[in-house]
Amino acid sequence: MPVKTLASCLLLFSLAFLSCRGRFTHANRVIVIQPLGDFSSAQSELVYRQLSKINPGIIVRSAIPIPAATYYPPRDRYRADSLIKYLSSRFGHADTVIIGLTSKDISATKNDIKDWGVMGFGYSPGNACVVSSFRLSKANQQEQFYKVAIHELGHTQGLPHCEEKTCFMRDAEGGNPLNEEKDFCPACKSFLKSKGWRLK
Ligand SMILES: [Zn+2]
Ligand SMILES: [Zn+2]
Repeated sequence: MPVKTLASCLLLFSLAFLSCRGRFTHANRVIVIQPLGDFSSAQSELVYRQLSKINPGIIVRSAIPIPAATYYPPRDRYRADSLIKYLSSRFGHADTVIIGLTSKDISATKNDIKDWGVMGFGYSPGNACVVSSFRLSKANQQEQFYKVAIHELGHTQGLPHCEEKTCFMRDAEGGNPLNEEKDFCPACKSFLKSKGWRLK
C-alpha cells in the first residue's frame, strides 16, 4: 500500500474512532432500578416512569431481598453505605447506575456520627445509590421520593450538595426540606445536561 494511502487510511480510522468515543462520552448511563424487599411494585413502576423522562435508558429489576448483612440492630435499620457496596459489587458497571429502593429506614456515617438516619445515600461520583421512603412525608410521599431519587442520582453523576435552598441538590442536614425544593438550580441543571440528562 502506498504511504499516502496508508496515511489516509490511518486518518480515517482515527476519525472514526474519535467520533465513536465522542458519542459514548456524552451518552448517559443506563439507570437500573432495584427494588429491595417489600418495596411496592406500583411505586417502582412510578419511579421508572418519572426517571425515564430524564433518562430513557432505564430498566426495573424484580425485587430482591434486602441483604441481611446490611442490617444494623442497635437502631433497627439498614446501613446505606453497605447497601450501596452490595448493589455496586453485584450489579455495578461503568455504563450503569443502580438505584436501590426501600421502605426500610437507612443510615450512614456522617462526620463524627456513626449511624445517622438518611432519606437516601449516594457517592459523588458513583455507580450505585439507595433511596428510602421511611422518613418521607405521608402526605406527598411519591413526590418526595422522586426528589430524593434524583438527588442521589445527581450525586452519582458527580454533583456535590448545593447552597440553593430550592435546588434538588440541597443538603437535607437531618431534616426534610423536600417541599422547599422546586427544581435543579441552573448550575446543577447544566452539569446534569452535560451528562446527557434530559432536563427542561
Ligand atoms: Zn446528598
Ligand atoms: Zn443546585
